[in-house]
Order: sequence, then C-alpha cells, then structure tokens
Amino acid sequence: MEALDVVVVGAGLSGLSAARVLAEQGQSVLVLEARDRVGGRTYTLRNDKVGYLDLGAAYVGPTQNRLLRLAREFGVKTYRTYDEQDLIVYRQHGIKKRYQDGLFPPTGGFLSWLDLNNVVRLLDSMCREVPVQAPWTARRAKEWDTMTVQQFLDQHVWTKGAMEAMREFVNVNVTSEAYEVSLLWLLWYLASAGGPLMMNGTAHGAQERKLIGGTQQISEGLMKKIGLDKVLLNRPVCKIEQTSGGVSVYDTCGNVYQASHCIVALAPPLQTRITWSPPLPARRNQMLQRLPMGSVIKTFHYYKTPFWRHKGMSGAAAIDDDEGLVASTYDHVLHDGSHPALVGFVLSDRARTFCELSVEERKRRICKLYAKVFQTDDALHPVHYEEKNWAADEWSGGCYTVMMPPGLLTTFGEEIRAPVGRVHWAGTETASQWTGYMEGAIQAGERAAREILHEKGLVDASDIWQDEPEDELYDMYTRTQAAITGEDLDALFLDAVFDSMPVEAHVFSFCFWDGVLEGGQG
Ligand code: FAD
Repeated sequence: MEALDVVVVGAGLSGLSAARVLAEQGQSVLVLEARDRVGGRTYTLRNDKVGYLDLGAAYVGPTQNRLLRLAREFGVKTYRTYDEQDLIVYRQHGIKKRYQDGLFPPTGGFLSWLDLNNVVRLLDSMCREVPVQAPWTARRAKEWDTMTVQQFLDQHVWTKGAMEAMREFVNVNVTSEAYEVSLLWLLWYLASAGGPLMMNGTAHGAQERKLIGGTQQISEGLMKKIGLDKVLLNRPVCKIEQTSGGVSVYDTCGNVYQASHCIVALAPPLQTRITWSPPLPARRNQMLQRLPMGSVIKTFHYYKTPFWRHKGMSGAAAIDDDEGLVASTYDHVLHDGSHPALVGFVLSDRARTFCELSVEERKRRICKLYAKVFQTDDALHPVHYEEKNWAADEWSGGCYTVMMPPGLLTTFGEEIRAPVGRVHWAGTETASQWTGYMEGAIQAGERAAREILHEKGLVDASDIWQDEPEDELYDMYTRTQAAITGEDLDALFLDAVFDSMPVEAHVFSFCFWDGVLEGGQG
C-alpha cells in the first residue's frame, strides 16, 4: 500500500472533522475506528420503541457554531428543549419547589439565594481571567490549580442550599465531584464555554436545543464527505511507530498503515493503551496517567403520555436524594410530540455507587424517585426503558470528558496539544472553545488538521486557529441585542438569575457581592 499523507485514529466528531479538512485540501487520508460505528461519544439509537435517542451527547446551544454549521450542511434541524412549564427542585431534607425560568434552581431560603448568586458571579468573573488556549498561564494559575473546587466552595459558600446547588452544578456539568477536580480546570472549562450561566442554561445556554434525528448524524455526514472507503470500522489501533521518514500505524487485525503524519483523536486515557515506539516523552506519558474520565449513566423512561406536561411541569428537575440515583432530569419528548420520555443523569459518585445494580433495579429505583419528584404514581409505569453506562464503555472509558485533578494543568498543561514528532493531537479535550463538548471536538479536529497542513507549507501559521462565524440560527437573537459583546451577553444571563430572586435580595446582593469580590474571602 502506498504511504498516505495522514492516518487519523478515532472516528468521533474530532477525528472525522480533521479528516474532512485534510481530504478537502487534497491530502490522502484514512480514518481508523475501533468500534463498528462512527460518532464515538455521540451515539443515536434508532428503533420503533424510541424513534431516535441520543445515548451520548444531545444538546446544542448558542456559540456552538461549528456544530450548527455542520448540522445545517447535512440538513439536520434543531428543536428547542421543552422548558415552558414549571421546573422542580427536590431535596431529601424536605424542599420541594416548582419554579420558572431559572438558570439555577431555588436553593431554599433568602440567604442561600444571596450566597448562590455571589458564588456564581465570583466564578463568572474568575473564569474570565483564564486564557482559553493556555489556562496554565493565568495570573493566578498556581493558586487555583493547587486547590480543589470543594476547597474553593468551602471558602466562599456559607449556606447549605448554595453548597448543594454548587455541588450539583459540578456533578451535572463535569460528571465529577467537587472534591476531586482542580479549581483552575473548572474555571478553564467554564471560560471555554463562555461562563457558568451559558454552560448551565437551557434557554440561551448549552442545553437549549437538540438535533432532530440525533447527533450521530453529524459524524455520519462527515464520513460520507470523506468517503465511505476512507473510514475503516472495527480497526482498534494498538501501536504507533515513528521513524524519521514517517509513521506506521498498527491495528489489532494485523494491518499496518504508513503515512507521513498521524492525528490521534481519542480521549486521553485511551492513548495509554497504545504501544508507542519510541515511547512517548516522559511529560506526556505522566500527563496521560493523571487524566481519568468522568462518570455518567444516562437513563430514559418512556411513558404512554408526558404526564408531567399535563400537570404543568416541564420535566426538568434538580434532585438531591441519596438513594435517588438521578440528579437531573429533562423532558425527552421528540420534536413531533412522539415517544414521551424523561431523560435522567446518574452522575459522578452516584454513577460509581449504583453501576453495580442490575438494569432492572436501576429502572425501578428511578421510577420510585420520579413518583416522589413529580408527585404522581404515573411515573411508576414506564412502557419502555433504555440506559447507557458510559463508565463501562471500552472505547470511551467514561464521559462526558476527562476531569483534571489539582496540579495537572500547571504541571503538564502545555503537553495537551503539543505534537510529538509527526503525531498531532485532536479530541475535545484539546479544544479551547467548549472543551468537553461536541463543538470542542470539531474545533480540535479542524485545528489539528491545519497544524499538519501548516507543516506541509499549505496553511499559514496564523490560520491554524480559526474563529467560527455566528450561526444564523442565533442571528435574530444577536440582532435584538444591538451590537452585543460577549460581556453584554453574560450580563443578560446574570440579570436572569437576578430576575428570579426576591426584590430585597437584589439590594443585599449588590453590597454582598462587591464586598466579596474585593475581599476575596467572603
Ligand atoms: P470521541 O467521540 O470519544 O471519539 C474518539 C473515537 O476514537 C471513538 O469513536 C472511539 O471508539 C475511537 N477509539 C478509541 N480508542 C481507539 C483505538 N485504539 N483505535 C481506534 N479508535 C479508537 N457534548 C455536547 O456538546 N452536548 C451534550 O449534550 C453532551 N452530552 C453528553 C452526554 C453524554 C452521556 C456523553 C457520553 C457525552 C456528552 N457530550 C456532550 C460530550 C461529547 O459527546 C464529546 O465531547 C464529543 O463527542 C467528543 O468527541 P471526540 O471526537 O473528541 O471523542
């Protein structure tokens, strides 16, 4: 076989995005994928019982313009996540509230509202100090990277309600626990998404929309563009060998592929399963051993009717119940009103605790929880159940993405996307915008492809990183805000948090907030 220009390892959104850019520049490219399908952490189940169902990534929102661009190209339309009626907050120590239009659930009393508002604003302002391409260069990088998120919360949060809400925020958004991750990493993650409210929000936030027909269609569309014969499935790569002349990539089926360059687009921990010749440099090797994946089981209870809608609820709930497994739910009725379901997220420590239960037992316990949360026995009678435990998935190792412990970014951060010889790194973990998300995967793949094109003299260094224009889906929203800047947009989101607070809280909050920002320690 004649040597290729580039072999790409991994046919997730990132690897396929890289291959597409290379193919369009006339490069000969081959993508090797371990699974029997493309899409990686995007995985759409299709059958009569569910219609279509995203077992992995599902949501898309404003500023995720690369994903929206591809959706548009492949004729995939979006629809809004249902949030038109009451949302629920449910706490085991008795709080059970319905609320509307909340970026964060009500946390209980007046003081915990202030407290939550304060810590969210503080995180919002701190994450703006983190350079998204190089978080380890932030002025306070060392200080923030030697602290866990829990240590930060212990310093700045005073009420039980706000502490619970913030732990949930960490669980839901990064599938890990506050005690195990670096504050700098969380700030980087938030910065890359445009701040905590953008990340946590439904309307105007990361959960605003879903793709009609499912997210895996994007990878399938990319595969067709690259050429079906250029994406080889069931080809787990087990060895990558570099010589002065090129790269040899070995799969477990005994095939060897020669190329001048290679892009590795796998979640970082999976890269340690590959045999490297010569071995990876010490710092990359050490970094990879410190990067575990998050833990999540995504569950789907299908019902005859969307009983929550009939009772004035949107299906969205923030739940804290030790025996309850699920921490967060959403309505999962399809765009045409069919296949009513509730999607539930079993997260981080709960995913690790409850992964040993049988599927039937998980389904049953979650039904009981839903009956309490939505206050109806209708929840006890699902007509169908699906789930996916990503922690048990051989070719992901967990989800949504890696979690970074204290010290990782400041010690090894520079290695995240530094090429090793002729091997370049893609994957959402190497992105600077929406890292951990589909958008980040696409950005990273396209950037890695342009790094190689640059080495070949086909692209200027200044074109390796490219901004993406705003998708027309959000044009109208943007126009109404008249020449809006990023900061103005965030101010709008912050206003929304304020709007859902009692009036007296605003007055106190302003004083409190200013004092905390200046004092640093509450
Ligand atoms: P992957 O999709 O992991 O692709 C890597 C590919 O490499 C895989 O196909 C894998 O099979 C393959 N591979 C692994 N090892 C080898 C090997 N040795 N040889 C060959 N191939 C190999 N993102 C959002 O934007 N919105 C969401 O709502 C959202 N929710 C999520 C919910 C869940 C439950 C999960 C699991 C993820 C979610 N995400 C979400 C995250 C999103 O799915 C990922 O960020 C994105 O899909 C990662 O793409 P990737 O190409 O970087 O990696």
